[in-house]
Amino acid sequence: MKSYISAWPKSAQLPDFPRSLVILGSTGSIGVSALKVVAKHPELFTVTALAGGRNAARLAEQCARFRPPYAAVLDDAVRAEFLALLPDGYRPEVLTGPEGYAALAALPEAELILSAIVGAAGFAPTLAAARAGKMIGLANKESLVLGGHVIRAACRESGAVILPVDSEHNALFQGLCGHGEADEEISRLILTASGGPFRGRDHAFLSTVTRAQALAHPNWSMGAKISVDSATLMNKGLEIIEACHLYGLPVSRVDAVVHPQSIVHSLVEFVDGSQLAHLGTPDMQVPIAHCLCFPRRVTVDVKPLNLAAVGALTFEPPDPVAFPCLRLAREAFDAGPSHAIALNAANEVAVAAFLEERIGYLDIPAAIEAALDRHVPVDVSTPEAILELDRAVRAEVLAAL
Ligand code: NDP
Repeated sequence: MKSYISAWPKSAQLPDFPRSLVILGSTGSIGVSALKVVAKHPELFTVTALAGGRNAARLAEQCARFRPPYAAVLDDAVRAEFLALLPDGYRPEVLTGPEGYAALAALPEAELILSAIVGAAGFAPTLAAARAGKMIGLANKESLVLGGHVIRAACRESGAVILPVDSEHNALFQGLCGHGEADEEISRLILTASGGPFRGRDHAFLSTVTRAQALAHPNWSMGAKISVDSATLMNKGLEIIEACHLYGLPVSRVDAVVHPQSIVHSLVEFVDGSQLAHLGTPDMQVPIAHCLCFPRRVTVDVKPLNLAAVGALTFEPPDPVAFPCLRLAREAFDAGPSHAIALNAANEVAVAAFLEERIGYLDIPAAIEAALDRHVPVDVSTPEAILELDRAVRAEVLAAL
């Protein structure tokens, strides 16, 4: 397996098939796509645990179908609702809250953990899976933004392996196959960005946009938070940080280019100037199946790409004035790990407020910039310090909105 794993360690052993699978965030957009892959290839997986947050009805439906022996939900009230919806004769062990998710991520019988909870809530379970030496399919980019340094160290110590589900990082992973982390032959990673629903719009237009407009992504169907992140380009900023952690490169060697068709998912540039691009129909089942089944390739229910039908592939630079979040993310990563935590916390609070229609779209970058201006770097070398800073910045940003 040498050199084929994107991040750590190069000599990793991957579990045999069928793989004992835990999906954290099974009720979300990524979780639902992952279960489509599992349903298509039931011989490759044993579903050991499914975890949702508040959506008891969807989780009960999923559990009734896949019959995992374990499940988890956010709290006791959701647990009671969930249990009442299960069919007779099936009673999984149901855990709750952050400790419950972390316990599922580290279950001795679990081999493959899909980390697909949204936001900073995904950090602790991802770290638990990393410490327990699991094979991890990572969708939750916020985990690495918060604590890439801690997760990397845990993987190195335990032998855990991270395979990137995020389509851009999965594309890079495929382009990098055969090359090690920070290989001297790699000159640059180039992430593509669709540009979101507001590509080409100016400040005056952006000052009027609504929640519904921000959620209407042109190419991808995703959860609400990442859809807003795509509209502000913070998603690309978080992904640049994610790529730096995954591939061990400085932020100066990770770029973004706007590609409105979302057909090229990212590119790796080598020192001879060659660029390897990964192309495909924009559907998350493809990178999810690639990670869950790695190194095997399996069929998925996604229409293959027809380049003649697509016609033209276009590229343009991101607009730094209309979309300051990209710059804010780069600057935060460069400033150090505690700035990245502050950036993420401020973004999550501001996006939640925008989704609740308490602030406008342009208030999102303003709240993040103000939080970064206020931020005084602190030591975040432990998970406890990371979570403490995350809590403190959230409280500050909420109070300032
Ligand atoms: P969704 O909003 O669709 O789903 C989020 C999932 O997390 C749901 O299962 C939700 O449970 C659960 N959840 C929410 N809050 C909590 C919490 N506090 N504790 C535990 N569980 C919680 O998000 P997506 O599936 O779109 O995204 C998931 C992650 O994957 C994000 O980090 C995103 O950036 C990343 N990603 C997503 C892509 C996509 O195409 N959607 C592409 C690449 C990366 P419930 O609904 O039951 O409350």
